[in-house]
Amino acid sequence: MIQQPIQAASPAAATPGQRAVAAAVAQLDAAAEYLQLDGDLRAILRSPQRELIVRFPVKMDDGSVRVFTGYRVQHNTARGPAKGGLRFHPQTDLDDVRALAMWMTWKCALMNVPFGGAKGGVTCDPRDLSARELEGVTRRFATELSPIVGPDSDIPAPDVGTNAQVMAWFMDTLSMHAGYSIPGVVTGKPLSIGGSAGRADATGQGVLYTIEDAARRIGLDLANATVAVQGFGNVGEAAARLLHETGARIVAVTDIGGGVERPEGLDGAVLARYLQEHGTIAGAPGTRPIDNERLFGLDVDVLVLAALEGQITDANAGNVRARILAEAANGPTDPSADPILASRGVTVIPDILCNAGGVIVSYFEWTQNRAAFSWSREEVNDRLRRQILTAADQVWQRAASERIPPRLAAHSLAVERVADATRLRGLYP
Ligand code: NAD
Repeated sequence: MIQQPIQAASPAAATPGQRAVAAAVAQLDAAAEYLQLDGDLRAILRSPQRELIVRFPVKMDDGSVRVFTGYRVQHNTARGPAKGGLRFHPQTDLDDVRALAMWMTWKCALMNVPFGGAKGGVTCDPRDLSARELEGVTRRFATELSPIVGPDSDIPAPDVGTNAQVMAWFMDTLSMHAGYSIPGVVTGKPLSIGGSAGRADATGQGVLYTIEDAARRIGLDLANATVAVQGFGNVGEAAARLLHETGARIVAVTDIGGGVERPEGLDGAVLARYLQEHGTIAGAPGTRPIDNERLFGLDVDVLVLAALEGQITDANAGNVRARILAEAANGPTDPSADPILASRGVTVIPDILCNAGGVIVSYFEWTQNRAAFSWSREEVNDRLRRQILTAADQVWQRAASERIPPRLAAHSLAVERVADATRLRGLYP
């Protein structure tokens, strides 16, 4: 029996990262139990395959030197190279990255993209860094990760606190080391250096497709629906904009600085401009303030969670009144909340399905880089739609036919595929 390096932490686990690991392990355990996997396989799937912790100095604008800590965890590569985002956030620690890496393994498997799961990040608040300092952090972090990343081994992408510019610096650093351009080493790059059409909006686009699909299944008319969104970054902004374009009314949005509410509907373009100038949407003209807890309890049709892990727990799940809860973020719902949401009749679109548009189009970007070819935005979105809706169909069908919650359906489909790959490859040596 293999020693298990990560364990389900106690419910009173102290840090957000420990709570995320506890949630990820509990979800895996539920899927493994449902699939009746043997103990050895469970131990393998629970164990992150490779973990790298790096510490590196960066010269700050005031001349001082600051030492940063970064992480990269490759959870499982049975199905292909490791794939997963880079997060720059004050809460980023080894546990947080471990949980996010495990979720990536399941997401890639559920979407049938030929990748394993990984995640990485640096403990920092990018809002406190100048552009030059952010570039310094990115380039040194890329250098420290260089022994384990590459187009055939491990391919990072944007996540919380990172964006296409950060990916450009990351790709440039590794290309400079090699002496030639390696576009396929990261995805989510700007278009002009090998990015894919549609990648910037891909996660939000996938969120829209899975919400449209779930709405159709429960008979909700999305064109007349009301929506509340937590988080207004890469994912939340795109999801809100695309939902608005379908006719849905965005009535409330929160971000790290606070929140805004307008029952007649918010204008996403106005919010995006205000965010550019003020660093938060809070205080945007013509809006009333709202906090996360009130947003979670709004009487809306769709609640989109596009910020961080562990937002809905057993303490506040009883307040949720939305018909659809779309998990645009990774791990936004603690397992303790799942039975409460189910008893309230909330249709939860599980994260590994809802936010998988990003990794699907990252896969397309990587494929285009390898083929030195580019697809149109229409082609990307058409393929994205088909791929994510195929997975959605499998999830909802298993949930219905086996009478199990959609999260268990999604995780059991994914874990089954990774377990199968692991079994077929066998143990080396
Ligand atoms: P981001 O940094 O671009 O945006 C995060 C947003 O959340 C910001 O608007 C921030 O202000 C807000 N936020 C942070 N703390 C908050 C709080 N306490 N209350 C309310 N809002 C808060 O990050 P992102 O890339 O949009 O990622 C958001 C989520 O989506 C994460 O869980 C991430 O792992 C997941 N995700 C991202 C991608 C991607 O392509 N970027 C893909 C799949 C999943």
